[in-house]
Amino acid sequence: MPCGHRGAVSMSQYQFISDLHLCDARPATVELFLKYLQTTAIEADRLYILGDLFDAWVGDDDDSKTAALVCNGLKQTSETGTNIYIMHGNRDFLIGKDFCQSCGATLLDDPTIIDINGQSVLLTHGDQLCTRDVTYQEGRKMRLQPEWLAQFLKKPLEERKAIAAEYRKQSGEAKSLLADDIMDVTPAEVIRWFESYQADMMIHGHTHRPATHHHLVQGSQKPRIVLPEWHENKAAAILVDDSLNITQMEIC
Ligand code: MN
Repeated sequence: MPCGHRGAVSMSQYQFISDLHLCDARPATVELFLKYLQTTAIEADRLYILGDLFDAWVGDDDDSKTAALVCNGLKQTSETGTNIYIMHGNRDFLIGKDFCQSCGATLLDDPTIIDINGQSVLLTHGDQLCTRDVTYQEGRKMRLQPEWLAQFLKKPLEERKAIAAEYRKQSGEAKSLLADDIMDVTPAEVIRWFESYQADMMIHGHTHRPATHHHLVQGSQKPRIVLPEWHENKAAAILVDDSLNITQMEIC
C-alpha cells in the first residue's frame, strides 16, 4: 500500500463515502463528486465507496453522461495513487468488473472486513441489516441469483433502462432520498454481525441516517458509523486514520 509519500504524516488515511445516488438528473451532485475526487479524495490512501454511488445501474454498457464522467474522475484519482474500492448498493448492484477495471477501482464483496492497524473494520452497504423489511429482503435475494442476473443482463440496454425507470416509479425507497422512506437497521442484527464477524467497528450507509452509534458487544463499546447521503449542496466523507480516529469532512 502506498504510504506516506504524499505528505509529511506517514499515517494512512482511509476515506468512506456512500449513497451519492449519482444520475444525469442530478448534475450538481455529480459536479460535487468530481470536485471531491480531485481535492479531498486524492489525499486518501484508500477510498471506499460503500454502495449506491449511482442511483441506478443497468449494466456496464451504461451509456449515460454520468457514468462516463464518474468513470473518468475515478480513473484520474486512482492514477494519483489513491486505491479505490467500490461496493454494491441496492441501486447499483449490477456494477461489474468491466466498469471497475475501466475506472481503476476494485469491486468489494458485501460485507468486507478490512484491517486497520490490527483492528477489524466491517464494511457493508447496510441494506442487509434492515431485516424488518421482509418484502425488500425477498426481492434482494431474488435479484442476486445468478440466473436472474444473467437473464436481466441479456436484455437490450434500452429495455433494462425502462425496467429500472419503472422500478423507480413504484418503489418508495427508489423514489426518495428521505430517511423516512427507508427502513432503519434492526439493532439485534447489528449486534449479531458484530459478534459473528468479530468486528471492532462497523461502517455502512443505505439508511440516510448519518450518525455514530456505540453498541455494547460482548462487554465493550463498538462504534458503528452511518455514512451520510449526498445532496447537490451537502455531502461529507468520513475519514479514518490508523488509530481509528474518525473525522467528518464536509464536501462543498
Ligand atoms: Mn441503498
